[in-house]
Amino acid sequence: MLQRVNPGHKSFADYRSIIPRELYEEVAELAGRLEGARVLHVNATAFGGGVAEILYTLVPLMRDVGLGCEWEVMFGAEAFFNVTKGFHNALQGSAFELTIEDRAIYEEYNRQSAAALEDEYDIFFIHDPQPALLRHFAEHISEERKWIWRCHIDTSTPNGQVMEYLLPYLLDYDAQVFTMESYAPPGVDFKKPVFIPPAIDPLSPKNMALPAEDAHYIVDQFGVDASRPILLQVSRFDPWKDPMGVIDVYRMVKEEVPEIQLVLVGSMAHDDPEGWDYWNRTVEHAAGDEDIFLFSNLTNVGSIEVNAFQSRADVVIQKSIREGFGLVVTEALWKGRPVVASRVGGIPMQVPPGAGLLVDSIPEAASACVKLLNDPEMAREMGRRGKEYVRRHFLTPRLLRDELRLFAELLG
Ligand code: UDP
Repeated sequence: MLQRVNPGHKSFADYRSIIPRELYEEVAELAGRLEGARVLHVNATAFGGGVAEILYTLVPLMRDVGLGCEWEVMFGAEAFFNVTKGFHNALQGSAFELTIEDRAIYEEYNRQSAAALEDEYDIFFIHDPQPALLRHFAEHISEERKWIWRCHIDTSTPNGQVMEYLLPYLLDYDAQVFTMESYAPPGVDFKKPVFIPPAIDPLSPKNMALPAEDAHYIVDQFGVDASRPILLQVSRFDPWKDPMGVIDVYRMVKEEVPEIQLVLVGSMAHDDPEGWDYWNRTVEHAAGDEDIFLFSNLTNVGSIEVNAFQSRADVVIQKSIREGFGLVVTEALWKGRPVVASRVGGIPMQVPPGAGLLVDSIPEAASACVKLLNDPEMAREMGRRGKEYVRRHFLTPRLLRDELRLFAELLG
């Protein structure tokens, strides 16, 4: 019921020249104190989604600094994932009717996975709702082990029925980690609530430094004129990411900057009818405009290509209506791009004053884009500030440090 993932190798020393010296030293000091500590991460998938992306970096780094770190994914059938997808949405506020059958499926998969856990870790690090009952069912695991529940979603306005059901299990954990304080369910007295935002890996193919001429070359191959201005949004085709609103912004910008092109990049799943429906509606909304380009992973836009579009864009927009965290904002800032982004969810936390423009409407977004396109000096300065902010706050070594601090506190 649990499958081990091989996340490859990374060396913490490679990050030395990228991050502040104090951060590097603090990680080294914490790692020295924790040497040999054994940690098991458990989540629901090794592919797709932010959690898997983070673990592919974090697990090798935890190993490299001296911890015994493993990653296992819960092996479930469709029926299980249907229930947990419902939980995921319900914890973010959607309606959900929790049936006795749902509970039985959820509990059975958790019971079987818990039985497969080996009692050889000091810390069990459990991600999101899918495996949240492991702690409850792992009766064979020694009492002195520590259990962390890491919530990657916004549970500030959860569906009451689902939260009421899950809460007793969540309270059993020794620590509960949320992305930010406002994402924790209100009025709950957790044993040890901890707030840790996510981070990006500056050395992954998506975020590593790409020379300007290479980015230009890649963008050109997709038929976009890299010598003309580009407005970019990278996001799933989903109403909350508002790609149609982005097209409306682009149309207003085009009145002032006729040379502008719009690139929308969105990852798609073969089996996601909602995503395809939304893609088709976005294509219709673009109405054959030759300066609007829609790309996806299914038209060959992978990590390197996302990197190239982000590196080359003149302005990166994130016009979300609701947002969990919005890692794409940090990805763009890390490439020194000026950002125009909605003031929602985790976005403002990533964009301090002077590092981008936060907006509340389509006309505001359009005038912010025009301002940046007409003032390259200001755009460059914003990009520079944004990049420095990301360097200090949103790269994986900071996430590693925060988690090592938590381990040190729990293990005393
Ligand atoms: N992404 C991608 N290709 C795409 C669209 C998105 O690789 O076509 C990546 C993007 O670079 C980011 C992640 O998917 O790393 C999206 O994370 P974010 O937190 O912005 O939004 P979410 O999809 O989790 O709501």
